[in-house]
This record gives sequence, structure tokens and C-alpha cells, in this order.
Amino acid sequence: MSRIAIIGAGLAGLTALQSLRAQGHSVTVFDKSRGSGGRMATKKLGDASWDMGAQFMRAHSEAFTRQLQQWQKAGLISEWPVQPGMVDMQGDAVIAPSADQVTRYVGMPRMTGLSRALLGAANQFVPSVRIVRASYDNGWQLWDDQNNEYGPFDGLIINTPPQQAIPLLSAASQLISLCEQVDMLPCWSLLLTFPEPLQCLPDAVFVHNSPISWMARNSSKPGRNQQQEAWVIHASHEWSRQQVDSARDSVQQLLFNAFNDLLQHQPSATQLHPDNQWLHRWLYAIPANPLDSGFLHDDNTPLALCGDWCHSGSLEGAWLSGSKAADWMHQFLPQ
Ligand SMILES: Cc1cc2nc3c(=O)[nH]c(=O)nc-3n(C[C@H](O)[C@H](O)[C@H](O)COP(=O)(O)OP(=O)(O)OC[C@H]3O[C@@H](n4cnc5c(N)ncnc54)[C@H](O)[C@@H]3O)c2cc1C
Repeated sequence: MSRIAIIGAGLAGLTALQSLRAQGHSVTVFDKSRGSGGRMATKKLGDASWDMGAQFMRAHSEAFTRQLQQWQKAGLISEWPVQPGMVDMQGDAVIAPSADQVTRYVGMPRMTGLSRALLGAANQFVPSVRIVRASYDNGWQLWDDQNNEYGPFDGLIINTPPQQAIPLLSAASQLISLCEQVDMLPCWSLLLTFPEPLQCLPDAVFVHNSPISWMARNSSKPGRNQQQEAWVIHASHEWSRQQVDSARDSVQQLLFNAFNDLLQHQPSATQLHPDNQWLHRWLYAIPANPLDSGFLHDDNTPLALCGDWCHSGSLEGAWLSGSKAADWMHQFLPQ
């Protein structure tokens, strides 16, 4: 049995965790957040709750299709039978049905319900700790930003966005240039609740030629509080990049205005009076140009990197990347 550290409790890290535990290794997971899930985050504000990052999962590969079936059987995810509409704000701006045939799944009773269940496999979870340095000398030692030391570990898996992995790569600096190649796009997310249902809107809409690219009635997902009219509004990556350093108040107002504008173009539109609002900036939302290697590893030390940016920008990409990193680590470490 080897002792392995995973930095980052996103879906890629949690997938590596499942595989390494199944092979009998002891695994400690670190995350700078209080909980797990990374970009499949849930935001809570009083009674309100929204999936503020990843909205749903879908499968392209057979392997992930099988995984989704297992999670569904275990009650960790459910199908979200949504038929998104689409609207072009430079056209007639009226929402039309889309020809979308995608089967979508969501974590139960929120996206982080899945990550929390997966995290249960860890021997130890160390939350609210930002690892800032890693060094290798017959074992990995890690340091957090308070200079606390952790280790030794036989193997290390880094599951952070590439920009956040770079400071951890002093023992494998040849991997830094690969991390630097990946352009992570930002995304501003506006979360709203309303006292009354917005009846003129379908449960999800793809939006074109607007600051907004996606909006969804969070409360239409299975397991969520159906009494609450909760909306998630994601800005487009282009717009988010233009506004990446703008003041929060200004971004919030601009996105709210874009939402209101869209709503007022629909038949039987109502006035918008939100009772909760929250704005979140995802600085590293999605890779524009993910690597095609699946994961990265060092040739000399038991070090692997995984994440959507090594494969493809989705939960499926993160899952596939985490699986590959764990397979490599298991082969590399002495049995
Ligand atoms: C707004 C938005 C909408 C999206 N919508 C969808 C969607 O509908 N469907 C879909 O499939 N995908 C979607 N995605 C993409 C999906 O969320 C990601 O592809 C996936 O969650 C990435 O998982 P990951 O494990 O690679 O990384 P992450 O989830 O980013 O996990 C990395 C973890 O590392 C931690 N960390 C970072 N640095 C450190 C450090 N120094 N020390 C300790 N911990 C650290 C972070 O806190 C985080 O928990 C969306 C993403 C965003 C942002």
C-alpha cells in the first residue's frame, strides 16, 4: 500500500481517489475550499441554493456512460428532463424550442451531492488548505500558505487548474510550459431568486449575441426546492473576458439588464424583482485549448497532473483525465 496525496477535490481528483482506493492505496485529499467539487460547486445563500458552476453532466464515451448509469443506480445523480430553448438577441429575441436531444444528468440533491459522496472514499480530507509548495526527496512533502508541512507521501496527484499547478512544479519544471500553454476562459455567473415564477421562460435557454450564453431555472432540476424560483445565468466567455476585471456591481447590473432585456422580449413578460442575488467570477472556468494527452506525468518522480484541461472542458473530460492519472500512478508506484 502506498500513501498518495491528491491536491484538489474536483471531479478529476475525486475520480483518481476512487480508483486508487480500489487498488488498496491510502489517499489524503487537500482542497483550498471548505468542501469538494471544485467547479461543480453549489452556492447557498440563506434558504436559496444554486448549482453555480457545472450545470449538468452528459456522456460521449462508453466509459462515462457506464459511470453515469452506476451513479444513477446509487441515487447520486438523476436525469434532468429539460428541453432547452434558444434565442438570438440580434434576431427577433423570442425564445424558440431547440432540436436538442441530449440526455442530461445532475448531482443529487445538488451538484456537490455527487462530489461529497465520492470524497467519502478518502482516508483523510484536509479542507481549507491551499498547498503552495511540493518537493520530492524519496517522498513528497507539501507546504500550505501558513507554512504547515504535510507528508511524506509516496505519490502526488495535482488536480488544480494549470495556472494553480505551476507553483507546485518546482520538482518537475519541464511540465510548466505545458501548463502555460492552456488558456483557461473566465465566466461570470449571476444567481437570482424571485418571489414569483417567471412563467414566460422555459427551464433552460441557450442565448446568442448577448452578454449571456446560458440561463437555467435551477429549481427545475430534480431534488431541488421546487417552491423557489432560482435562476443561474452564465455570461459568455468572450464577454466575461472583456469584463474580467470590471467592478462586481457593474458586472451584476449589466448581466441583470441583459436578463431583463431578454425577458421583456417574450410574450407575457413580467417585471423582475429578485429577492436574492449573488455574483461569482470563475477565473478559470473552461479550457479553450485543452491538451490532448489526457493527463501529465513526470518521468522521474511519482507525480501526475489531471483535470479537464488535460483532456476536454467538461465533467466527462475531468473524469477521464482523473482515471488515466490514477492508472499511471498505480503502475508507477511499487506494489
Ligand atoms: C460556469 C461553469 C459552467 C460549466 N458548465 C458545465 C456543464 O454544464 N457541464 C460540464 O460537463 N462541465 C461544465 N463546466 C466545466 C466543469 O465544471 C469542469 O470541466 C470540471 O468541473 C473540472 O473538474 P476538475 O477536477 O478538472 O477541476 P476543478 O473542479 O477546478 O477542481 C480543482 C480543485 O482544486 C482546488 N485547488 C486549486 N488550487 C489548489 C491549491 N493550491 N491547494 C489546494 N486545492 C487547490 C480547487 O479548490 C478545486 O476544488 C462548467 C464550468 C464552469 C466554471
